[in-house]
Amino acid sequence: MKGGSGKRPPVTNDQHRRIKLKIEKAERLKSLPPYLFKEIDRQKEEVRARGVDIIDLGVGDPDIPTPAHIIEALKQAAAEPANHRYPSYSGMDDFNAAVARWYKRRFNVKLDPGVEVVTLIGSKEGIAHIPLAFINPGDIALVASPCYPVYDIGARFAGGAPCFMDLLKENEFLPDLEAVPPEVAKKAKMMFINYPNNPTAAVATKEFFESVVAFANEYDVIVCHDAAYSEMAFDGFRPMSFLEAAGAKSVGIEFHSLSKTYNMTGWRIGFAVGCADVISGLGQIKSNIDSGAFQAIQIAGIAALEGDQTCVEEMRRTYTERRDVLVEGLRSMGFSVEAPRATFYLWMEVPRGETSAGFTSRLLTEAGIVTTPGNGFGAPGEGYIRMALTVSTDRIREAVDRIRTIDL
Ligand SMILES: *Cc1c(COP(=O)(O)O)cnc(C)c1O
Repeated sequence: MKGGSGKRPPVTNDQHRRIKLKIEKAERLKSLPPYLFKEIDRQKEEVRARGVDIIDLGVGDPDIPTPAHIIEALKQAAAEPANHRYPSYSGMDDFNAAVARWYKRRFNVKLDPGVEVVTLIGSKEGIAHIPLAFINPGDIALVASPCYPVYDIGARFAGGAPCFMDLLKENEFLPDLEAVPPEVAKKAKMMFINYPNNPTAAVATKEFFESVVAFANEYDVIVCHDAAYSEMAFDGFRPMSFLEAAGAKSVGIEFHSLSKTYNMTGWRIGFAVGCADVISGLGQIKSNIDSGAFQAIQIAGIAALEGDQTCVEEMRRTYTERRDVLVEGLRSMGFSVEAPRATFYLWMEVPRGETSAGFTSRLLTEAGIVTTPGNGFGAPGEGYIRMALTVSTDRIREAVDRIRTIDL
C-alpha cells in the first residue's frame, strides 16, 4: 500500500457533498423472497395515525417481564469483572452443564456438555448460521412450511436451495415425508422442522419423530429441530424432545431458547444440543463470526434453568386463560377454531371467500386488530391467519367484542 494512497488528492468539502457511491446489494439480499408483511405494516401505521387504539396480536414476543430472580442473577454477574472479558466460544462450561442437567430432568436425555451442547446468542443466531457449516452451493434444505422464515433464508444465504414440505391440516400440520420425491431427498443435506410449531401451533408425535430419524438415516440428512416452544404447552401436555426418539442424536440437533420459556426474548440466549459432529460444525462457524454470549447473561440463564420453575407454571396459566377467552369468543361467533395445545399462537382459517391478506386487512381497518396473514410464513399458510396471545386477557376480551361487530 506504501505510497499508493497519497497520490489521489483528498476530496474537497464541496466534492464531499456530491459523493454518491454506487452501492449495490449482493444477490443473496436481492433474491430474498418478497417480505409479505410490508402491506400489513403500512396499514398498521395508517390505522394508528387515525388515532385507533390498536390491539396487536401480531408479534410472537411475550408481554410478560423476565422473572425477578433471573434479573437479580444478571445484576450480580454484570458487576463481576471476570464477566467483562471475552467469553468462551462454545459457551461457559457451567452453562452447558446446566443445559445438560435440564435435558436430563426434563426429557431424560443424557448429553455430554463438552461436545453435545453449544451456547447460542439466541436460537435464531444458531439457526441462521448452521447452513454455513453444512450446505454447499446447490444443496437442498428441506423446510417444513409455513414456518419461521429463518430456516429457508439461512439455507439460501449459504447458497442452498430450500425445498418446502407443506404442512397441511389433513396431516395435522406434520410434513408428509413420503411425499418428498426421492431425487430431492437424495440431494437434501439438511431438514428443518419445528414442534410445537410456529405458526400452526401443531404438536409432534413420537411416531413422527421416529419417521424423521428413519428418513434422515436413509438419505443422510442432518435434522435441525427447533424446540423453542417445548415448555409453552397447556392442559398438562408436555411436548417431547426430538432427541427422545431412538437414534435422533445420531442424525441431528435440537435448537432451544430461553426466550419464550422465561420471557427473555431481549436477552439473546439459547442453545443447540445433539449430534456432536453437527454441534462441532456449528461451533466452528460461530467461532469465526461471533465471540459468544455475554457471560453475565449465561449466568442468568443458569439461574433460569436451575431456579424455581414456578414462573414457567405461571406463564402457562396466563396463556391458558388468554387462549380460552379467545377460542370461546371466536367459537361463539361461529368460527371453528382449535384450541392450541402448545405455543401462544392461534392458527385460524379465514371465513369462506376471504384470503389471508384480505381478512388480516379487514380485522385491522374495521376492528383495529393486528394479526398475521398465514401466507407470510409460506404459501401453504394461505387461507389462515395467526393470532398471538401476547396481550392481556382484558385486551383479548376487547378484541373478541370488536370482531363481533364486523359484518362477516
Ligand atoms: C421465537 C422463536 C424462536 C426463538 O428465537 P430466539 O432467537 O431464541 O429468541 C425460535 N424459533 C421459533 C420458531 C420462534 O418462534
